[in-house]
Amino acid sequence: MTDLEAFRSEAAQWLDENAPKSLGGRGMQMMAEGAADQEPSDVRSDRTKWLEVMAKKGWTAPTWPTEYGGGGLTPQQNRVLQQEMAKRKLPPPLMGMGLSMIGPTLLVHGNEEQKQKYLPKIVTGEHRWCQGFSEPNAGSDLASLACGAKLDEKGENYIVNGQKIWTSGAQAANRMFLLVRTDDSSKHNGITFCLADMKQPGIEIRPIRLISGNSPFCETFLTDAVVPVDDVVGPVNGGWTVAKTLLGFERSGMGGTGASPGRRGSPAAGGNRMIELAKASAGEVDGKVADGALRDEMSKLMIDQMALSLTTQRSAATAKAKGGPGPETSIFKMATSELGHRRDELMLKLRGTGSLYWEGEGAPAEDVALTRGWLSAKATTIYGGTSEIQRNIVSKRVLRLPQPK
Ligand SMILES: Cc1cc2nc3c(=O)[nH]c(=O)nc-3n(C[C@H](O)[C@H](O)[C@H](O)COP(=O)(O)OP(=O)(O)OC[C@H]3O[C@@H](n4cnc5c(N)ncnc54)[C@H](O)[C@@H]3O)c2cc1C
Repeated sequence: MTDLEAFRSEAAQWLDENAPKSLGGRGMQMMAEGAADQEPSDVRSDRTKWLEVMAKKGWTAPTWPTEYGGGGLTPQQNRVLQQEMAKRKLPPPLMGMGLSMIGPTLLVHGNEEQKQKYLPKIVTGEHRWCQGFSEPNAGSDLASLACGAKLDEKGENYIVNGQKIWTSGAQAANRMFLLVRTDDSSKHNGITFCLADMKQPGIEIRPIRLISGNSPFCETFLTDAVVPVDDVVGPVNGGWTVAKTLLGFERSGMGGTGASPGRRGSPAAGGNRMIELAKASAGEVDGKVADGALRDEMSKLMIDQMALSLTTQRSAATAKAKGGPGPETSIFKMATSELGHRRDELMLKLRGTGSLYWEGEGAPAEDVALTRGWLSAKATTIYGGTSEIQRNIVSKRVLRLPQPK
């Protein structure tokens, strides 16, 4: 038995012994927007138990070093763990910007004190993070941000004034990583990356209500908000480099959670369900989906998803060796979000009128998850940088094509 096979059987046994039974089989549904509101209370409390046992094991952040509360797994072991979880259709115990963005960024740019202070609290879910990058006049052109920070007289704290917008999850967050302007004389070299406690009088949030009734993001107002100098990540005025690393993690989804973008389409995960649905809607001949055109569409999608998944894994290994993600993550962000749209459209087509379910008694959970997931995924080609911006980055920094003057 190879080491990896031994790890697989160990992980499988541990999951069977520790994962709450009520969560098995609920993986995809539980991740859909609004799904948590409809969960029975026993499932909700099992979710808490699941987070506790996984955090204790270090498997909420499987590849992070054990000294910061992570699991210390290799990328290969992590892949095996994700496969075993997918087999049991277990939901991820924890998700969010702590795990996928700021944690990995601190591992690259944080000092030892910051790693010790923040990473273990991300692993347990105690700190819930939001991202204060975008401003009313700084989105695609992020470096034009104006939210200003000035050092106080004692040189102990930065005093921050300005506004952020589209701050996802700010209403539930107790920490924010943000970009502030510390020098007006240089656009990119006047930006500092820092960490703020959201629970302070200087920070006010106003949820932005959407047509769905949800308020997934907020306007965030900072009025004399206090950020200790110890919570500046990287050099003062050197925040643009730190921000690029973080955006790389955001765009690739390779922040150590192992949630490979291609996973949804693998035969072991969503792919099998797609085949079942296709057989149910188009019929079956010789064990295959009867409609040839539909079969072609599905095969092409699954091949593209697998190719993306493998490329992402290869790039993740390179990024680890280089100490952080590079500009090629823009390819993954763009391809993952656009493939996701294709997949969602196809799933809706297969579900037919089932895809009209939104809520209400008797509405099948899978259909509700599908419809809500399709709508909420519309934003994936916008946040973290739009597809147009990713294409610009790929042309300039990956392909090094001539740029317009
Ligand atoms: C659901 C959601 C969640 C978000 N969460 C967060 C968050 O948590 N924190 C945060 O800081 N931000 C967040 N954002 C903001 C997001 O990062 C911005 O919306 C995004 O960067 C685009 O900026 P903008 O909305 O200002 O659009 P603009 O920059 O005004 O762009 C408008 C349009 O012009 C195009 N465009 C602009 N410049 C160029 C160019 N140079 N070349 C080609 N086309 C161009 C864009 O592609 C877009 O289609 C979120 C956005 C969404 C939709």
